[in-house]
Amino acid sequence: MIGLFKGLALTLRTYLTPAVTVQYPEERLPIPERQGFPNLKIDPESIDTQTREFRYNCNACGLCAKNCPNQVITVTRKDIDGRKQPDVYEIDVGGCMFCGICIEVCPFDGLVGSPLYEMAHPDNKALIYDKDMLTYRLEYPVLWGEKERKWQRKIKELRYYSKRLK
Ligand code: SF4
Ligand code: SF4
Repeated sequence: MIGLFKGLALTLRTYLTPAVTVQYPEERLPIPERQGFPNLKIDPESIDTQTREFRYNCNACGLCAKNCPNQVITVTRKDIDGRKQPDVYEIDVGGCMFCGICIEVCPFDGLVGSPLYEMAHPDNKALIYDKDMLTYRLEYPVLWGEKERKWQRKIKELRYYSKRLK
């Protein structure tokens, strides 16, 4: 008999405890900046608002690629006006585990974690993100294209869902 009441008490306690799960995709948890998918940071001082040209913080030292546990980063270097810049910078999204190590090890503040993470695609080739796709333009509306406008909408949704969870 005691066992029965103990079981019922446990059921009742569990029933009254708030759920820790979220109803994805309607509800989403915000992810910490340093654990998002790595994007290349733009040097804000270098932005030319007329030509929309800019330079990256990244100088293509290759440290992120060396430290990536899954070896999914490819980087080569070129010189632009005497400044070292990434020529090729690619990440294979299919192999990235969003660990943030590349962001942590960069000595030049070259990478930032993007708040988005839904990148699944049936074609493996589409999962190789090039330098342009990895450029984090969100903070600079003057450089926005259609992708950033889409992101902005998604981020607003994320903020909305995150707020609902607080
Ligand atoms: S560690 Fe930083 S500066 Fe070096 S290649 Fe990676 S992002 Fe660029
Ligand atoms: S987040 Fe981790 S797995 Fe992804 S590219 Fe950076 S170091 Fe590699």
